[in-house]
Amino acid sequence: MKIAVLPGDGIGTEIVAEAVKVLKALDLKFEMETAPVGGAAYEAAGHPLPESTLKLAKEADAILFGAVGDWKYDTLDRPLRPEQAILGLRKALGLFANFRPAICYEQLTHASSLKPELVAGLDILIIRELTGDIYFGQPRGRRTAVDGHFPGAEEAFDTMRYSRPEIERIARVAFEAARKRGKKVTSVDKANVLETFQFWKDVVTEVHKDYQDVELEHMYVDNAAMQLVKKPKAFDVIVTGNMFGDILSDEASMLTGSIGMLPSASLNDKKQGLYEPSHGSAPDIAGKGVANPLATILSAAMMLRFSLNQGEAAARIEAAVQKVLAQGLRTPDIYSEGTTKVGTAQMGDAVVKALG
Ligand code: NAD
Repeated sequence: MKIAVLPGDGIGTEIVAEAVKVLKALDLKFEMETAPVGGAAYEAAGHPLPESTLKLAKEADAILFGAVGDWKYDTLDRPLRPEQAILGLRKALGLFANFRPAICYEQLTHASSLKPELVAGLDILIIRELTGDIYFGQPRGRRTAVDGHFPGAEEAFDTMRYSRPEIERIARVAFEAARKRGKKVTSVDKANVLETFQFWKDVVTEVHKDYQDVELEHMYVDNAAMQLVKKPKAFDVIVTGNMFGDILSDEASMLTGSIGMLPSASLNDKKQGLYEPSHGSAPDIAGKGVANPLATILSAAMMLRFSLNQGEAAARIEAAVQKVLAQGLRTPDIYSEGTTKVGTAQMGDAVVKALG
């Protein structure tokens, strides 16, 4: 088993170091190889996703990814910006299914911005389609408008599109996942306004015929955004497109107390996957040793379960995380009165210790 370790920028290096520490403590047999990605790779090799990094990622069974990006790269041409590395990896490896569980740990119900009774016991899974939609649709660009409200004015445009196979495969992933959980899928769309999402709704409904043991509901994205803060526990699995999933999963992350708690997995049809925290490179706290490493550590657990067939080791990590929270250890983002504030490395060390 080979793991490509791509720490990236900002807090990426700090949090990935803690996840690697935890993986090493498990005493499993796998090889880990580190390579630069994002802004770090741009500095080292002139490109956010150098050939050597891409080759390593393709050869590996799984990728452990930190985060990329920094405001200082905002003026670079778009293909050279750090964020292009993630888009490039998703595309090159065909990582079409993004799993983002939002679990509210008992000990963190008070860190959530919602009332504790609304989030206690929350366990929802957002499945976001990752390789289509308006983020990848062509054509896109800037031009002079020939029609619309201001003909002759400069305008920008993107293309929202989904093909039947793209919708079918993500719908199947969602129904399969729901079968192993609460047996309910909420498909989020904007079918009342967008042709692409009327098609999405039609195809999901067709695929559902093969999964009659799972309940399917359809919900418009604006309502879903509202229901997520009104009654989040009513959801089990949410499946949606690339853009809506991007937004809703960040919203869901706050239900859990902090974006620093939210892991994610992006899988292709060979179960090869990229595992990363749901947050970004947090330049505002980078280098201060205060970032929460738990989302990355929990992403490593997802990696063991989904790509490396080590479910038992994954469960050990998850239990260790619960244990350190029960011990009252908190990084600043999840700190509340009466708990003990710790830094990134101390939190990683505590998880290693809690593995037993
Ligand atoms: P962000 O997720 O980096 O940060 C948002 C807020 O959450 C910040 O206040 C940050 O301090 C806090 N935060 C994030 N992770 C945390 C952690 N582990 N512990 C404690 N606090 C944490 O989002 P942003 O500020 O919008 O973006 C910063 C950079 O990250 C940008 O360049 C953006 O493009 C990039 N980004 C990268 C990814 C990725 O690599 N997958 C995802 C999102 C954003």
